[in-house]
Amino acid sequence: MKIAMIGTGYVGLVTGTCLADSGNEVTCVDIDQAKIERLEQGVIPIFEPGLSELVVRNAQAGRLRFTTRTASAVASAQLIFLAVGTPSAEDGSADLKYLWSAVESIAPHLAPDAVVVVKSTVPVGTNAAIFAKLAALTGRVCDVASNPEFLKEGAAINDFQYPDRVVVGVRSEHAETLLQELYGPYLRTDKPFLSMTPESAELTKYVANALLSTKISFINEMANLCERLKGDINDVRRGIGHDRRIGFQFLFPGVGYGGSCFPKDVRALANMARKVNLEPRMLLAVDEVNNAQKSVLIEKISTYFGEALPGRTIAIWGLAFKPRTDDIREAPALVLIDYLLEQGCRVIVHDPEAIENVKQQYGSRLIYCTQPMDALEGADALAINTEWGEFRNPNFDEMRRRMKQPVIFDGRNLYEPEQMRQHQFVYHSIGRIAVE
Ligand code: NAD
Repeated sequence: MKIAMIGTGYVGLVTGTCLADSGNEVTCVDIDQAKIERLEQGVIPIFEPGLSELVVRNAQAGRLRFTTRTASAVASAQLIFLAVGTPSAEDGSADLKYLWSAVESIAPHLAPDAVVVVKSTVPVGTNAAIFAKLAALTGRVCDVASNPEFLKEGAAINDFQYPDRVVVGVRSEHAETLLQELYGPYLRTDKPFLSMTPESAELTKYVANALLSTKISFINEMANLCERLKGDINDVRRGIGHDRRIGFQFLFPGVGYGGSCFPKDVRALANMARKVNLEPRMLLAVDEVNNAQKSVLIEKISTYFGEALPGRTIAIWGLAFKPRTDDIREAPALVLIDYLLEQGCRVIVHDPEAIENVKQQYGSRLIYCTQPMDALEGADALAINTEWGEFRNPNFDEMRRRMKQPVIFDGRNLYEPEQMRQHQFVYHSIGRIAVE
């Protein structure tokens, strides 16, 4: 099939590349000229495991192209995907300015039987509004479908190629058939193709992200409770997880969720609820608990050092909002960095992939290390924010030698308290008794 992907960010680039890899002819469009130029040279603007080789292979095979020219990409396409960003507006609603500008740019070039597929996460009713807008702009009926994306950054290619399900919201058999054909190669292992109304499809994406966020805020609140009642959240987690009604997934305590999706989608769903006079008590609590949890290491560090905190050297391992990505949007590590700088600390940071993004934001206010051990040189404490695999089994003797004081604040529970006692560290983690 001939496909135009409008928006070549995380979702657009991964989706476009994977669709090219299953034999489609895909043109990825973006308004960011520098990004397109780099992609044309085979330089991938984001870190996503496995993406680079897949882009290069499909571009060389002529199935994947990059352009800033919307007109030519759209004119020859049967399916036009909209994958532009839908960030949070100030009131928490989804800001649709990129989406409306994309709709206007594609309208004059749509082929008569083309289907516009909305992949961006958009508030309920947006699909119908695009349908109406395209009718007004073109003077004819244009088919518009919803196809929310469930991939996770860090495992995006695998998630796209082996989805748990594909959800589409359609208003015509034509759109349903095209999308079923497109996703056929990915659903060979009996994974469902779920067809519903555009409104239900739009809601499905928000409800999925809201429930995942709820699980995280719930376990974080329980972890905080465990700490105060002298329990161990890890034991409790195992104790509940074996109940098949509960399970283990997404119940790991930490420093709160971040990224470009969960925070904004929870807020946008709450905003939608309020617009139809439903007070979204759960969603507001999920957001509030998460915002507080982003300060959990701040509380521990400030309690430990007290008035002696200013001037201390604090090392941070992990800046990305989760492992295997370079994405720092709404990352909990940034909240900690801001606080430590405000307190007059010297902050040394390390992340396997996100350093460049952090550098763009903080410049010379931080010290950057490409090796985790180098970040510990002379540190009064280490704070861990992201559970990268390479942090799980460090050489504790070397860590102690490099640090000024053997103190760890572990926001991801990477180590066992007993193990840390043996290695003679002061060790504070989430929802477990501290080693002092
Ligand atoms: P992103 O910010 O990484 O990428 C968006 C891209 O769209 C940018 O490169 C931008 O330059 C481009 N763009 C903006 N306006 C344009 C226009 N008029 N024409 C062409 N290009 C334009 O965003 P993302 O993370 O890929 O997210 C895209 C959508 O997918 C959002 O609605 C998001 O909520 C949703 N989503 C994201 C993820 C994720 O993990 N990132 C997962 C599922 C769904």
